[in-house]
Amino acid sequence: MNEKRVIHQENTPEKVSSLLYIMSSDFRVENNHALYHSYNLAKKYSASLHIVLLKEPEENDRNNTFFEHGIKNYKQIFDTYADDVSHFSSFNNTLKKVIKKADLIIKDKGYLLEEKAIEKELENLISDLDIGLEYVESNTLVPVTVTSNKEEYNARTIRKKIHENKDAFIDPVFEGEPDLTYAEKAMEIAQDFVSRKLKKYHLKNDPSLEYTSNLSPYLKYGFISPLTIIRLLFPINNDNKEDYFEELVVRRELAYNFIFFNEKYNQFDHMTYGWAYDTMEIHLGDKREYIYTKDDYTSFNTHDPYFNAAMKEMVHLGKMHTYMRMYWCKKILEWSPSYKEAYKIALDLNNYYFLDGNTPNGYTGVAWCFGKHDRAWKEREIFGKIRYMNANGLKRKFDIEEYVKHINKETEQS
Ligand SMILES: Cc1cc2nc3c(=O)[nH]c(=O)nc-3n(C[C@H](O)[C@H](O)[C@H](O)COP(=O)(O)OP(=O)(O)OC[C@H]3O[C@@H](n4cnc5c(N)ncnc54)[C@H](O)[C@@H]3O)c2cc1C
Repeated sequence: MNEKRVIHQENTPEKVSSLLYIMSSDFRVENNHALYHSYNLAKKYSASLHIVLLKEPEENDRNNTFFEHGIKNYKQIFDTYADDVSHFSSFNNTLKKVIKKADLIIKDKGYLLEEKAIEKELENLISDLDIGLEYVESNTLVPVTVTSNKEEYNARTIRKKIHENKDAFIDPVFEGEPDLTYAEKAMEIAQDFVSRKLKKYHLKNDPSLEYTSNLSPYLKYGFISPLTIIRLLFPINNDNKEDYFEELVVRRELAYNFIFFNEKYNQFDHMTYGWAYDTMEIHLGDKREYIYTKDDYTSFNTHDPYFNAAMKEMVHLGKMHTYMRMYWCKKILEWSPSYKEAYKIALDLNNYYFLDGNTPNGYTGVAWCFGKHDRAWKEREIFGKIRYMNANGLKRKFDIEEYVKHINKETEQS
């Protein structure tokens, strides 16, 4: 394991007899470097190891059910590695007592504000005590803090840094060992993607086809590591490998970089670039032909059948085709009375309905619709210089009616 994955936050006391691993984002065994690190330190110090699974509930019960189902065999799986295993859904007093009993704490590194808030609470709790604390970055291929020490401008600026570092982080651990219910399922989905869909991945943008991996909810809960997926790609000889790497590693890790270095990533006034704010100011007064509310969206009540189908996919199935996510968010920008309202509606829907919502990717995807990580385009009504998308583009490029038919059929059954 590459030691650069470890961030030493508090010094380790001289004597360690009790170790605590707080698993809060990488819910798996395979390629979980924090688990591997904890397990080896426990052996080194002949210390006991307590594993705590910590995950605060989300607003949408569908997401909570997905997670609970995914970890349902956790006791049986982690018993092999630890002396004690427990599961908490908040940073409560019982957990605080467990924490205070440890000599050394290892925790998955968090990136979102709510994850950083828990880390702050943890650090405050142990600040006067002789307890060591280390964070481990196992959620991205290259640790966010290794790739860069600042917010990167776009994919072009981060790509080279990731490629320079990537080989040093092909450091697999615990491969092929029995795993959590959804870690096993994620592996099956990844293998199916690599053997069947990857060769058609150049068609990933077509909403009437299904050539993307659908791994995003599993990546969100850390049921699978990007490293695991990358290693499945090694023996494959196919040009689409590079495209997939670009999405899974470059784009995803650009999102993590944004969230990690910009603590105001979720605020309208701080999430995009100066040129985008300037153009929005100029076009704020442009006449909007359609204005819709959040309720119109969730009751599929707009004039646009493609948008309505995308909303059905979101509301009923908790997902949306990659290309339709861009279209969907651009339409909300176009049909809202102000950009600020549009941003709030899009983010609220994204984080409530998507199984893969509440992630760096979600905040970044929505910000992208407002110019983040993009460039200025030809000026037009409402969008100004922000990239524009319209229904004619969907009709011209894809069999978009087939997408609508397919979603109607799938959601009728749900
Ligand atoms: C408005 C908008 C909102 C989005 N909201 C989310 C969200 O809430 N959660 C989320 O995980 N992704 C989000 N994305 C990014 C992307 O659309 C999804 O990751 C992708 O659709 C997931 O499907 P997949 O796993 O089949 O993707 P694949 O094409 O199989 O890609 C593999 C993995 O690469 C990563 N990835 C792919 N595309 C992107 C991208 N553009 N940016 C960053 N990472 C990417 C994802 O982790 C994905 O699972 C959003 C994009 C936009 C434009």
